[in-house]
Amino acid sequence: MNAAEPGRRPAADGRALTAAERAATTIRPDILALSAYAVGHEDDGIKLDAMENPYGLPDVVRDAIAAAARATPLNRYPAGRHDALESAVRAAFGVPDDAALLFGNGSDELISLVVQACCSPGDTVLSPVPSFVMFDMSARFHHARFVGVPLTAAFELDLPAMLAAIRAHRPKVVFLAVPNNPTGGRWADDAIEAILAAAPGLVVIDEAYQPFADGTWMPRAAGLANAVVLRTVSKIGLAGLRFGYLAGPAPWIAEIDKLRPPYNVDVLTEAVMLAVLRHKAVLDEQAARLRASRDGLARELAALPGVTVHPSSANFLLARFSGKMGGNAVHQALKTRKIRVRAFPGDPALRDCLRISLGTPDEHAALIAALRDILG
Ligand code: PMP
Repeated sequence: MNAAEPGRRPAADGRALTAAERAATTIRPDILALSAYAVGHEDDGIKLDAMENPYGLPDVVRDAIAAAARATPLNRYPAGRHDALESAVRAAFGVPDDAALLFGNGSDELISLVVQACCSPGDTVLSPVPSFVMFDMSARFHHARFVGVPLTAAFELDLPAMLAAIRAHRPKVVFLAVPNNPTGGRWADDAIEAILAAAPGLVVIDEAYQPFADGTWMPRAAGLANAVVLRTVSKIGLAGLRFGYLAGPAPWIAEIDKLRPPYNVDVLTEAVMLAVLRHKAVLDEQAARLRASRDGLARELAALPGVTVHPSSANFLLARFSGKMGGNAVHQALKTRKIRVRAFPGDPALRDCLRISLGTPDEHAALIAALRDILG
């Protein structure tokens, strides 16, 4: 390497600046200061940290996927329209005929597109906190300001505080995860209605965990003047696929669609989605099985010394460990036993809390046995 190499600039002392030095003066300061979204990389042991469906797909569905993939030409770009997938998604997930649809590479991408479409630099994105961290991160990525409105001590929505913050900050976008991640609660419909009435901009009702809850806003997705409904297939067994959808009034969806990178849903994702949705009953049965296991696991956790479990409408439980060992120590002890759950060391509101995804009955039994041992 020498200073004459293209892209190399001499430092004050004459030596070439390193890549780290060049990056540090070029990358946005707020990005330099950010920690990347943490994705676990351990793939052994019992994985209860990412709200994945622990059940694989049966052979009949895997065979259908293999056939669909084999029949998919990879040399062509994805088509400009996804008519067949649109009909399949509408039928499978109850998207009303008069709602417009936008597909994303996971719902993460759609969160990002919404912020980009609505927010000029300095505009406000608002959500209760703690909630899904990508609401905050997406806002920062796109030069918007994030305002988090704390939940109550019992992790309930603080509606008066939400309404006051909406009046004070006039957010362009309000994100409501319903049920909420990581607390698991589902905000009451009348509280959401009050937020819709107060919000001057768009409200995104993020129903990532709806398959494990009672109730949905999806039937109203076309008729609300300032709301859209966001969903993902990640929690019902297809987290590896990266597919989410946004349903809402056409005038909103058409604008957000302008920012979508062309071909964001690739041909294999489309083919696999179509194949799997012909067997949607399999996904429904697995979601129902997980949901049915939730109360039992909650009871077993709550019976452990010093553990309180927050009521959940999702495929995970938030448990607080306030006994002799705090949440972080329990997290570490589980980790040494290769049981992965999620801790929140950086968030004071979630001190001593662990988020535990629902798993198989064997995984629940192994978790409870390990916790009994750890908590003595
Ligand atoms: N919304 C919420 C509330 C989530 O918890 C998550 C995933 N943790 C997502 C959206 C993103 O899901 P995906 O990108 O896998 O569709």
